[in-house]
Amino acid sequence: MRPTPPNHTRPIWAEISASRLRDNFHALQAAAGTQVQVLAVVKADAYGHSATECAPILAAAGAQWLGVTSAEEGLAVRASLAILPQGMTAPRILVMCGLWPGEEAGILDRGLTPVVWEPYHLDLLEAEARRRNLPPQSVAVHAEIDTGMARQGVAPGPLLDRLLQRFAPDSPLKLEGVMTHLASTEIGDDPQNQVQMIAFATALQQVAAAGLRPDYVHAGNTSSTDSGYMPQDLPALAASLGAQAMTRAGLALYGYALPLESVEPQNRVSHVHAHTEDFLSPRLSPKLKPVMTWKTRIVSLREVQCGDTIGYNATFVAPVTMRLALLPVGYADGFRRSLSASNTQPGGSVLLHGRRAPIVGRVSMDLTIVDVTAVPQVNIGDEAILLGESNGNRIGADDHARTAGTSAYEILCGISDRVPRIVVP
Ligand SMILES: *Cc1c(COP(=O)(O)O)cnc(C)c1O
Repeated sequence: MRPTPPNHTRPIWAEISASRLRDNFHALQAAAGTQVQVLAVVKADAYGHSATECAPILAAAGAQWLGVTSAEEGLAVRASLAILPQGMTAPRILVMCGLWPGEEAGILDRGLTPVVWEPYHLDLLEAEARRRNLPPQSVAVHAEIDTGMARQGVAPGPLLDRLLQRFAPDSPLKLEGVMTHLASTEIGDDPQNQVQMIAFATALQQVAAAGLRPDYVHAGNTSSTDSGYMPQDLPALAASLGAQAMTRAGLALYGYALPLESVEPQNRVSHVHAHTEDFLSPRLSPKLKPVMTWKTRIVSLREVQCGDTIGYNATFVAPVTMRLALLPVGYADGFRRSLSASNTQPGGSVLLHGRRAPIVGRVSMDLTIVDVTAVPQVNIGDEAILLGESNGNRIGADDHARTAGTSAYEILCGISDRVPRIVVP
């Protein structure tokens, strides 16, 4: 998916640590507990870490399920798993955003498992399966229930009943999984979590009443595992159908988690959680380590005098004599323009020789200027860390997110294809 261009010579790259990815997966599985299986989410090109590099590493670490965005991404991930040792069972691949006309053949060819909720999803798969004379119950799908996020999924009630009718015993389709997605898991004690899980339980009763027995019941994400809110009630729900409980996690695999929040006390529904504070102390995030280290090198150095203007629109004026280093990274690489700094508004920084060097002026398309006045030993060719750790200092996607007014998710998956991902031990 991200072949490193053979002619890549520009000094910018992202190192992907295989051992950290493995350790994070194991930490997630430990936090989820023995009753809950973790589906490793590698969607959006593994949150910018390269799905085709990360998938085989996660599979070798024991992941039995991987989650991808689309059929297209699923096919690339499936192909990447060809390097697994013979005899090792390849993980299943859940296509999390449904399917679109034209994708059904690839899904069946390569054994991808789509999430479905629109009747047309079933029409497409059913028609393709019948065209191939596939036996009953041979094409596995997971149905998503909309329990309150109003994004994907079918609402419990008549719409779900109509969807469930499509899984008659003679249908080539098999309802292998039933899932939902929780909207507010980083707010550990948000009553919405409970409201959604109650709706999910109702939907599962409907599934059972329709005579269907899915093998998997899944919900939750990084934050719900971190807060311990989930998978707390998930195993019991799954067990009520004789199914395996599963939770899906992405961000934690790559070494990040959102800070856990709490609802305002006056908005709490007192009967919802007897022990609210249980859900506010992170049990996973302290164990996580960022998988990506994003690096570049100094390509130019200069000195400016007091009063000299720096960068586009002269948003920064040197208040004193300064030494500046030029880095070959800009917003076309996914290094956010909102990390720019003016004299009145500080921006982001990078690490040079283990010390923070602040950005000065505007981040431009291909280039960024940093202040190295306080790091006198710098030279052309020295490594600069854009995301990562050095000498006890750390700059994370969460730091970029705070400065740029976005989330670690968006920072990570916004790093562009122009930055080759290189797997390191
Ligand atoms: C992205 C996604 C996840 C994983 O979320 P994280 O917060 O990254 O762990 C889980 N489930 C669904 C449906 C998703 O889209």
